[in-house]
Amino acid sequence: MIRPTVARVDLNALKSNYRRIVDHLSAEPAGGGTADEKMIHTPGVIAVVKANAYGHGAGQVARALEDAGADLLACADIEEGAALRDAGVRAEILVFGALSVSDLDGLFDCRLTPTISTPGAARAVQAAAQKYKQTLRYHLKIDTGMNRLGFRFDNLRRTLPELIASPNLELAAVYTHFATADDPESPLFEQQRVRFERALKEIDEIRGPQHPSLRTDGSTPRAPGGSTRPDRPPYVHAANSAALLRDAHVWYDRVRPGLLLYGVVPPPLATSVSLEPVITLGSRVVAVKGVRPDEGVGYGIKFKPAQATSIAIVPAGYADGLDLRLAGRGAVLIRGRRAPIVGSVCMDMLIADVTGLEVSPGDEVVIIGPQGNDRIDVREMAGQIGTIPYEILCRIGSRIERLYM
Ligand SMILES: *Cc1c(COP(=O)(O)O)cnc(C)c1O
Repeated sequence: MIRPTVARVDLNALKSNYRRIVDHLSAEPAGGGTADEKMIHTPGVIAVVKANAYGHGAGQVARALEDAGADLLACADIEEGAALRDAGVRAEILVFGALSVSDLDGLFDCRLTPTISTPGAARAVQAAAQKYKQTLRYHLKIDTGMNRLGFRFDNLRRTLPELIASPNLELAAVYTHFATADDPESPLFEQQRVRFERALKEIDEIRGPQHPSLRTDGSTPRAPGGSTRPDRPPYVHAANSAALLRDAHVWYDRVRPGLLLYGVVPPPLATSVSLEPVITLGSRVVAVKGVRPDEGVGYGIKFKPAQATSIAIVPAGYADGLDLRLAGRGAVLIRGRRAPIVGSVCMDMLIADVTGLEVSPGDEVVIIGPQGNDRIDVREMAGQIGTIPYEILCRIGSRIERLYM
């Protein structure tokens, strides 16, 4: 039994996107230079699969990325990491988010790499590692201006020494996150880069001369097939999709694309990297009917056509993640043509104006994706309702079956 509204997830497109990103990183080495130097300076990837892989299905997506060569995946919290392990993921998994300090057992049970971003978390993770009699490798997050998670860049000498001295914790990597990578006008991006590189120097000083220094040219040696080997010096990463596209100076040792993997370029940026959207969302017309002049359609009768109109009912609504604001703004594709979404998006249905199209019940409807010569992509849909493509993808409802191609 399967509902008419389904999301198709093209795992070949996903793998191809992953490889295209890897190719892009090796084609334009930050360090420039010879083939040997290129090898050294080609950054690795941290494939971001948080939030159920941006709505695409974390287990399937993560395993396909592993197939494509990904050796490090990232998720939002310990629970997501546990779900990835349950799905059979074997690659290293980095947890980005704040740790639920009360329940750190998952880090050990599921072999997860934590981010430590506050002194309190540092103490809690140290205590847990001591309890498990293990040395835990962690990523240190520096807040360089976003003012979300991370040790503030400007008082590390006060906040870091206790963490650095923790006997059961070993620094695997240092990172930061950009607040305005998608805004070419914002000077904060460059400020964050400068603050981050200054922080790296300070961390070197706090750790002392017996440790190899953190490098900013992407030349930290990487263990093949993962970075969990304890004999590797700590490496450096910072770039989300937008930063990756924007500036090779912030590629460092690894980059952290999320949205790009799913074939979507963060607006308003553009790229020559050839990416394919991974998810499409389709349905079928369940009813077609005529509306007489001066009648209206849907809750609140917001759509009142002056002429006789044909409408099609599509069984997908806000419970499936389709935004109410699409009514009067968005469209779906039916018979290769755009049919405006009218009236109101309901919980389980939406209404499309199909006047002039020969539409019958059972006809295929494309909500996101191509049909005929046209296509509705998530960037367009996000623009219509004043949000970002991330939100559209993440909100594709759990009721919708994902079919993996
Ligand atoms: C979500 C996230 C990313 C990926 O962001 P995209 O814009 O999807 O590439 C990278 N780093 C961190 C810390 C994140 O939370």
